Amino acid sequence: MKISIIVPCYNEESNVRAFYNEILMLPEKLPEGTELELIFVNDGSRDKTMEIIKELARSDSMVKYIDFSRNFGKEAAMLAGLEHAGGDYIVVIDADLQDPPSLIPEMYNIIRNGDYERVATRRVDRKGEPPIRSFFARMFYKLINKISDVKIVDGARDFSMMSRKMVDSVLSLKEKNRFSKGLFEWAGYKTKWLEFKNHSRNAGSSKWSFWKLFSYSIEGIVSFSSYPLVLSAILGVILCFVSLFFVAVIVIRKIFFGDPVAGWASTISVILFVSGLQQLMIGIIGSYLARIFIEIKDRPSYVVLETNIGSETKQDNA
Ligand code: UDP
Ligand code: MG
Repeated sequence: MKISIIVPCYNEESNVRAFYNEILMLPEKLPEGTELELIFVNDGSRDKTMEIIKELARSDSMVKYIDFSRNFGKEAAMLAGLEHAGGDYIVVIDADLQDPPSLIPEMYNIIRNGDYERVATRRVDRKGEPPIRSFFARMFYKLINKISDVKIVDGARDFSMMSRKMVDSVLSLKEKNRFSKGLFEWAGYKTKWLEFKNHSRNAGSSKWSFWKLFSYSIEGIVSFSSYPLVLSAILGVILCFVSLFFVAVIVIRKIFFGDPVAGWASTISVILFVSGLQQLMIGIIGSYLARIFIEIKDRPSYVVLETNIGSETKQDNA
């Protein structure tokens, strides 16, 4: 049996070696004869990450790499890893040691029994994370679970082990806007959740700015729910009723009290409010349209500069 470990790396020069050393401790904890394949996906790092990975690959044949031509994002890096992995079981894990590699043997024991196709992990706390970020993260999970069919577990990490069967299902989803947490759930299969406490990054800093996370969560919502579109229709109907009510008020005032219509201030504020709403709704429609546009262009999710995986067969994947 072979386990592929996929590691997306973006500016992780200070972590790659420490991560590799942790992985070196695994074989003795895994059943005899378990083969390991370590796939580093270098997502356009601007530091020495790639040099270090190549050095490791020279001295250890278990180390594989896929080097992107630029930064394509973690989603693209994970996809490349899944597409190139040759293992019977596939692990996705961060390079910064926030996901403890020491869980891998336990995951393997669970999945090998055959009851589960996936062993996933979730953090039970968000210690060491800025409170504002935790707050918005919680809001995001609440919202998306309300409005989409796919349920996404709060605190779920990408760190997980999947069977070949499940990975093939995930890869059969061809969408370009990938929100893996949703795709994994969409694929279904029995999942065993392991919990662990949050660890701070080994070194370096998080690659996710607030805005990057914000647009990623919009990605998640738009990819897995069309509720925002329905919302615009509902709001439209409500506004119609509100305006009918005001028409009635004006007519009654005119007929019974002889009151002419007064106040341009109120008129202006209503116009501003309604046009603001319209703008918002157009924006929502636009964000779906933009995604359709990206899907229809059908560009590859990433471009491979160099890889040492199955050089003749797989390099055309770029
Ligand atoms: N990462 C990546 N491409 C990116 C951003 C991040 O491959 O554009 C990798 C990064 O190197 C790390 C993992 O994704 O291995 C998680 O990133 P990070 O630790 O910055 O996220 P956080 O743990 O703060 O959610
Ligand atoms: Mg991290």
